[in-house]
Amino acid sequence: MPYLANQERYSEMKYNRCGSSGLLLPAISLGLWHNFGGVDSAENGRAMLRRAFDLGITHFDLANNYGPPPGSAEELFGTMLKSDFAPYRDELVISSKAGYHMWDGPYGEWGSKKYLVASLDQSLKRMGLDYVDIFYSHRPDPNTPLEETMGALDQIVRQGKALYVGISSYDAEQTAQAISILNDLGTPLLIHQPKYSMLNRTIEEGVQDVLQENGVGSIAFCPLQQGLLTNKYLNGVPAESRAAKSTGALGENEVTEEVISKVQKLNDIASERGQSLAQMALAWVLREGRVTSALLGASKVSQIEENVKALDQLEFSTDELGAIENILSD
Ligand code: NDP
Repeated sequence: MPYLANQERYSEMKYNRCGSSGLLLPAISLGLWHNFGGVDSAENGRAMLRRAFDLGITHFDLANNYGPPPGSAEELFGTMLKSDFAPYRDELVISSKAGYHMWDGPYGEWGSKKYLVASLDQSLKRMGLDYVDIFYSHRPDPNTPLEETMGALDQIVRQGKALYVGISSYDAEQTAQAISILNDLGTPLLIHQPKYSMLNRTIEEGVQDVLQENGVGSIAFCPLQQGLLTNKYLNGVPAESRAAKSTGALGENEVTEEVISKVQKLNDIASERGQSLAQMALAWVLREGRVTSALLGASKVSQIEENVKALDQLEFSTDELGAIENILSD
């Protein structure tokens, strides 16, 4: 059946300004790292993309290597763009990245201009796009001058292959340097994509301050800690879960008694707030407006529906925040 987007799609979603740029991002974005690869059901992928867009999720995040096999998530997304979303291209913010291993030889990973430019060309072909909205350096490269990596991002924008640029997993010092180089080049850094959740708060120790001082936005990846911050693992590892899958990036050994004991206590607070734990974990990442968007993953339509409802209750009382701090610091 041809897809016709929900007419009400913009009525519930919240859109946040990305730093001091002109771009608004949905408070909740969808990433295609898992569950959209060649090994996954394309029909389930299509259903999730349609439902997400119908709920006002305008931002889809990809990377050259998402799959498995690497590249297959961009291929699937390209197919769906053509069949379902072509009339809506200008309502979408599509991102891709390069940094991790994509092809053999010295030019298939990290941060050289040679790799970044070639990789984006490949991504555009796989997705059938003329340009991406955001292109990221996926990780800092200790062996390439930052000037070269940022110079490649600047060139890509000037060539019209990306509208904005981002960096991912850069620490505070690298972020400050990247911002300065890009400002000099005249292509300001739009966004940083760091890992951030109640169980991983590294960016609070510097990165967030640098971003705020410089008017750069942020989109938090793994806000549900790959599913740990949901009710999924409260009673063990279910068969239908990322931790149980051979292609998942969450090891069963990461579902420890210590983590689950914290998760259980957090789940109690979420219940008292009238939310699921997943909803509270997303609201927590978005608290105080320091994060532009929470970038979640999903394996089912119902998860996206549940997670978007986090926006119904974004406020935290001081007592709730204190109780959460106590659990996390235990
Ligand atoms: P999350 O922390 O949101 O974990 C998503 C997983 O949690 C889902 O696949 C599902 O797992 C489970 N889940 C989600 N909602 C619910 C729910 N309501 N109830 C129960 N379980 C739920 O994020 P991801 O780890 O998927 O990462 C999100 C995105 O971030 C990626 O797609 C990618 O775009 C980006 N990313 C970027 C990285 C970078 O280096 N820049 C690195 C990693 C991710 P299950 O399959 O078990 O159902």
